[in-house]
Amino acid sequence: MIKLKTKLTMSYLLIGLLCLLMMAFLANILLERFFIQYVMDNQTLKNQELADQVSSYVDNHQAWDLSLVEQAGINALEEGLILKVTDASGLVIWDATTYNSGMCEAMMSNMASTMSQRVPDWEGGMLETVYPINKNGTFNGTVQVGYYGPYYYTDADAAFIETINLALLLASVFAVIMAVFIGAMMAGRISRPIANVVMKTHEISEGNYEARFDKNSNTKEIDELMHAISSLAQRLENQEGLRRRLTSDVAHELRTPLATLQSHMEAMIDGIWDADEKRLGSCHEEILRLSDLVSDLERLAEIEREPKTSDYEPFSINDVVKQQLAQFEPKFLEKQMSIKFEENGQASIRGNKRQIAQVVVNLLSNAFKFSKTASTVDVAITHEGATVRVSVTDHGIGISEEDLPHIFERFYRVDPSRNRSSGGAGIGLTISEAIVKAHGGMLTVSSTVGVGSTFTIILPKLDRI
Ligand code: ADP
Repeated sequence: MIKLKTKLTMSYLLIGLLCLLMMAFLANILLERFFIQYVMDNQTLKNQELADQVSSYVDNHQAWDLSLVEQAGINALEEGLILKVTDASGLVIWDATTYNSGMCEAMMSNMASTMSQRVPDWEGGMLETVYPINKNGTFNGTVQVGYYGPYYYTDADAAFIETINLALLLASVFAVIMAVFIGAMMAGRISRPIANVVMKTHEISEGNYEARFDKNSNTKEIDELMHAISSLAQRLENQEGLRRRLTSDVAHELRTPLATLQSHMEAMIDGIWDADEKRLGSCHEEILRLSDLVSDLERLAEIEREPKTSDYEPFSINDVVKQQLAQFEPKFLEKQMSIKFEENGQASIRGNKRQIAQVVVNLLSNAFKFSKTASTVDVAITHEGATVRVSVTDHGIGISEEDLPHIFERFYRVDPSRNRSSGGAGIGLTISEAIVKAHGGMLTVSSTVGVGSTFTIILPKLDRI
């Protein structure tokens, strides 16, 4: 399998090479086109200059200075131009091919072979331009300039093209080296954080849930991936902690009643204690406590599994609260306690009526348990936006700031010994919170030690009746 860094480097290199090839190709075509145009313009200019020069050798009476014309023709021949001059009557007064036909032919064939060496598939030959000579409105004859065309590369031109090609080649080599270098650098910048993510993910999969990323990657998507993996690790860490604590908590919860049962039974078997009604009753109480604990755990497991929304039905939350209050009233009277109920409108919710009733029961039962004799418990139903809120406020012992964040955890009890005597295993609030969450709501608490606590069930309401 190819490494990501190698793959990215190769991709960057390939893209770089492709761009380079295209650029080199375009530069070559454009340069050649411009250069040919330049050479052709230059040739035209030279021809024109020669014609202008020769035209100055005729005076106002149409008399040509033949020695100057010949000198100009010989000079032009050295520069690859074949001069032919005729007078006004069409008579040839000087012709390079007549003057030195051998040299003209040799020059042309030399130019042809040079060009076919420099430009493959070259097709060219001898071209002529004729310039009429007019002076003061009088026609004095013609200057004909023969040259090799459509264009001809001199040694200097050929050297210039070679230099340009060499520069292009050098630039390409330099660009390839840079492409490899920058490609490897960029690939490293992308692959390094991914390799880091892979490494951390391995660490997490091996059980090191505390592994976290020390710094960001500068790439949005990779940062998001890191963030998602960190949250996953955090959740796994929490789950693992919960799993460990659950095992030890369950063992701890079972140990006390089982130890009590064991010692009672052994004492009765050994004949130290009589198996009388009181002792058997106490054993029976422990067994009931164990059985309650198991049922609570079963209930919690059932709620925490996928909530069974197929059981959900619309019902009036006011009716459920009022039903539970009615059932609790006699119990509250035992402690000379009273309930103050306030309902601000009616609301229906969709859910499992039995489970929601269970939450109300748990909150009322806690308010009862942790309140002083003759105190009041306030129960209120209010509305806020799309939610309905059921709050249960007691004026009891309250919960300290340190305990408050933990009271929804399994088996958490502020004062284990006192709660054991009052029968709670510390699961009531855990179950209540799980039920409310399964209904798309929230269970909140605020409390002050010695003043009291307010638990609020917040649920999405169906409508306002
Ligand atoms: P339990 O089943 O033992 O009552 P809960 O889960 O209902 O357990 O409550 C957890 C703990 O939170 C209780 O043991 C108690 O210490 C504390 N608690 C719950 N409700 C109240 C309250 N209204 N006032 C004071 N403490 C409370």
